[in-house]
Amino acid sequence: INVPKPINEPIYDYAPGTNERESLKRALAEMSEVVLDIPLVIGGKEIRTGNTGKVVMPHDHQKVMATYQKAGPEEVQMAIDAALAAKNDWQAMRWEERCAIFLKAAELLAGKYRYQLNAGAMLSAGKTAFQAEIDAACELIDFLRFNVYFAEQIYKNQPISSPGVWNYLQYRPLEGFVFAVTPFNFTAIAGNLPTAPAIMGNTVVWKPASSLVYTPYLFIRILEEAGLPAGVINFVPGSGASVGDICIADPHLAGVHFTGSTPVFQKMWRLIGENIASYHAYPRLVGETGGKDFVFAHASANVEELTTALVRGSFEYQGQKCSAASRAYIPRSLWPQVESLLRRDIGKIKMGPTTDFRNFVSAVIDKHAFSNITQYIDYAKENDGGEILIGGGYDDSVGYYIEPTVILARNPHFKTMVEEIFGPVLTIYVYEDADFDKTLELCDTSSIYGLTGAIFARDRQAASVAISRLENAAGNFYINDKPTGAVVGQQPFGGGRASGTNDKAGAMSNLLRWVSPRTVKETF
Ligand code: GLU
Repeated sequence: INVPKPINEPIYDYAPGTNERESLKRALAEMSEVVLDIPLVIGGKEIRTGNTGKVVMPHDHQKVMATYQKAGPEEVQMAIDAALAAKNDWQAMRWEERCAIFLKAAELLAGKYRYQLNAGAMLSAGKTAFQAEIDAACELIDFLRFNVYFAEQIYKNQPISSPGVWNYLQYRPLEGFVFAVTPFNFTAIAGNLPTAPAIMGNTVVWKPASSLVYTPYLFIRILEEAGLPAGVINFVPGSGASVGDICIADPHLAGVHFTGSTPVFQKMWRLIGENIASYHAYPRLVGETGGKDFVFAHASANVEELTTALVRGSFEYQGQKCSAASRAYIPRSLWPQVESLLRRDIGKIKMGPTTDFRNFVSAVIDKHAFSNITQYIDYAKENDGGEILIGGGYDDSVGYYIEPTVILARNPHFKTMVEEIFGPVLTIYVYEDADFDKTLELCDTSSIYGLTGAIFARDRQAASVAISRLENAAGNFYINDKPTGAVVGQQPFGGGRASGTNDKAGAMSNLLRWVSPRTVKETF
């Protein structure tokens, strides 16, 4: 292996008085003053359709940061054509040269553009400095560096040969274009979904979420500066219907790299199924699609650590992580202590604009999210089977603010205990200590998802029982830690059941989905 084994990008803490903090503040101030004009980028050219949307700050929705162009059917077709036109040269390029472009982009992100990306994520997506840093800077850098490292491992993985016979695998990219559909909640994921297939020699049509266009646009510019040839990744914000339907109907669709909601992925899968005979090859479908992630406490849990995990796991980035802790099972014997620690810790949380570095939580992403989340809170206020224990307030007059909220469920199948909410809402079910086994079973079967989960136990035997009973309940399973914060190269990320195809982001197994190896045997 030639590529140096990457290390995870060190995280800046932006402590008061540090140069990093000053640089980030400058970037925030500069960015707040300019209204960016975001074009489509197709075949390396900027395209303006005149059909525009606005990027506003979630914590102050009257503040416009950018206008962006929305692709219509014609532009989507242009993007597909541009991706297909760029394909031959891109796949013919030596893989080392392709990879060098992404390593260069990682360096630009780590240095020259770090503060801009982070400031963009703070202002346009409602991330605190820390949440921006671990995402838009570190995780995105890690994805690029580690994926290059994994690519080399793949290319060098070859079958055995014998005298007179030479066998080798040619890791061809997929035939056609890859459609990348990215979410609002992580700039790193938005960057990873188009670049992972591109690293393996594919060309891409990229539809970012309408609620996260700003940092993806900064990133596409960084890729260009790093030397990405025109047409390799084509940037086309727009509605799901106008972009998605056209891409899916195209016979050259070679794969979908998706992170977003379960219903949208299932709809795409259905449409692809209906079109299946029209494609040149079976499209690869790779999706990560939500969760109802759990924290399960045994009576032997360390209560302080458990509470910290609940607070961080549920409320960092306003709970808008697929991995967020959103249901918890707490034994009766620990409950009085856990409840009082939760009240203590949540009582100390500061909520407000991300530009004030003291705030731990900010606004949720947009009006749609605000109304969806608050409907769940109202449901808990109005229905038996659950009650609001902490928080429950909300106000969207300035920003889309929702208080960190804890619901106590008397019924373990209560709506907020089983459905994905994607906001700062944690539902807790208190179980009788003697029912540990039965409650594990309940945890395993009461949600359709299987993304992340955690067991808290100091008793090794109890932890072992949970590890085995919950084997299929989570693709990322944490023992005595919160279920969020997977690190590229350390905890490959993804889950099964209704949470996705579990093609682990940040792992070699993901990159293998973007190649179709040809086995070549030559006899002499
Ligand atoms: N990888 C992130 C984590 O471990 C979550 C990704 C997501 O929300 O899709 O917290």
